[in-house]
Amino acid sequence: MPKKKKKSALKRVKSFKKYLFFLLVLFAVALFSALLFFVFWSYVPDTEDIYVSSLNPKQGDTILIETDGQLPKVSGSFDDKTLAFFHSKDNSIWIAYLGIDADIKPGKYKLYVSVPGKVIEKEINVISSNFQGTEIAAPSLENKGYTEKVAINNIIKKDNPPLSEIIKTFTPTAYFDGPFAYPLKEVKKSGFDFGGFIKLGSFLIQHLGIDLKAPEGTEIYAINNGKVVFEKNLTNYGKTIVIDHGLGIFSLYLHMDKFDVEQGQDVKKGDVIGLSGSTGYAAGPHLHFSIRDNGSRIDPLVFIKSTQEMPSNYNLGRVKKLFLSWLNIK
Ligand SMILES: [Zn+2]
Repeated sequence: MPKKKKKSALKRVKSFKKYLFFLLVLFAVALFSALLFFVFWSYVPDTEDIYVSSLNPKQGDTILIETDGQLPKVSGSFDDKTLAFFHSKDNSIWIAYLGIDADIKPGKYKLYVSVPGKVIEKEINVISSNFQGTEIAAPSLENKGYTEKVAINNIIKKDNPPLSEIIKTFTPTAYFDGPFAYPLKEVKKSGFDFGGFIKLGSFLIQHLGIDLKAPEGTEIYAINNGKVVFEKNLTNYGKTIVIDHGLGIFSLYLHMDKFDVEQGQDVKKGDVIGLSGSTGYAAGPHLHFSIRDNGSRIDPLVFIKSTQEMPSNYNLGRVKKLFLSWLNIK
């Protein structure tokens, strides 16, 4: 009897060893497959290729375009607009933010990126955001002196012209070298969404920014490094700040209560530029926040999120290329 018991214990140890060995083999195979997948099939850009974050953007979206930072020169265009590339902080990537205008006609467009000795072409299919189906009546503010006629007149003749002039300018260098941040500590939509149409009497005005919840006196932050290029109390937009971030990117903050920076001042990402309020045509305190990218009217929250995407790994791309050339695979 005891002999038999010993034997079965030995058997158990043996089968446990077999089991352990089997687990180890399984683990090694999984690890090897993961490595193979990472090197060969995961998206790691070729050093001569470009990375485009989306080939099917919606109106108002932002596309991220990246290429190898070691290339001496990169340029590009999309629908007659020039792409502005800048270097990532560690110089490993050239990055361009391409804003898809809210009113661009849906359909197929060509994106061209020129790197030394080669032009890379990609087809971009812009999808409709169906902004047309969203009509909301503007709040009546006749008690504040804004009849429909006065409000429309203010927007077209007084407030928009100076802002359009500012946004037309192009600073060829970037004040920033990294992702953009949000203008408030807590970001919550309230009021009009991006791209929707506001009915003001017989007029329809497209809301080309976003309304964010901000009780009177909430701190507003610069979304990235830049220069304050506009600071005025406008008739409809109220106390307004515009920051030029360089490369055609501007951020706009409307209906503010108080300015904490001066026109011409350089600001850093996260600096308090002032406090929120309800100046101008506003039914209550909130922050109307907009971004313009090379003239394109884009969803500011989508833009900020896009800039925070993980950049592609071009260093890994170089390792992959070296490995493939070593294996003699093209
Ligand atoms: Zn608004």
